Amino acid sequence: MSIVTIERKVLEKNDALAATNRHVFARNGLLVLNLVSSPGAGKTTLIEATIAHLKDRVRIAVVEGDVQTDLDAQRVARYGVPVVQIVTNGGCHLDAGLVAEAVDQLDLDVVDLLVIENVGNLVCPANFDLGEAMKVVVLSTTEGVDKPLKYPAMFRRASVLIINKVDLLPYVDVDVQVIKQHARQINPALVVFETAATSRLGIPEWCDWLVSALSRGHA
Ligand code: MG
Repeated sequence: MSIVTIERKVLEKNDALAATNRHVFARNGLLVLNLVSSPGAGKTTLIEATIAHLKDRVRIAVVEGDVQTDLDAQRVARYGVPVVQIVTNGGCHLDAGLVAEAVDQLDLDVVDLLVIENVGNLVCPANFDLGEAMKVVVLSTTEGVDKPLKYPAMFRRASVLIINKVDLLPYVDVDVQVIKQHARQINPALVVFETAATSRLGIPEWCDWLVSALSRGHA
């Protein structure tokens, strides 16, 4: 089947570019996160809260991926960190080549932590390695408890799960313990945080963990 062959070639090419990115990131001592979620789970707000909390201790840069607009890059730029927007023009995920082009525009010598916000989508971004140290999957409590079971590839390939919008738990019929159970059924090694990024709940714990990952040289 030619479709299968083409897809495999695309993925092989991506993996080669991702390996180059990973080499560049390691040479510069960068910790790189690939932030993934459905649209509206709170990735950009989580980035804003993380920058606000860590700005004085950690040099952060951000690559924003969106199908259209630079609205997220504008939000992040307000915090005074370097940010590059990638517009995929309909593409449902970032790839390693797009990230390499974006990273070319950053001075990596003055960055410790690079956060890549992927296109909001729980399917396509799972297959495309960007050269990151880890995928961080953000899941909003409003999305229900079944997403880890329905989109297992993303949860299997992630290192961290951030359950966001826990401040809305009184209003939604969702049990956080069941989300965790489902996620760990797919990936027992997941590190899990509970946050409400808009009110900064859980952000210090997440940021402390990031700082310890940085000091372990988890790049
Ligand atoms: Mg966003």
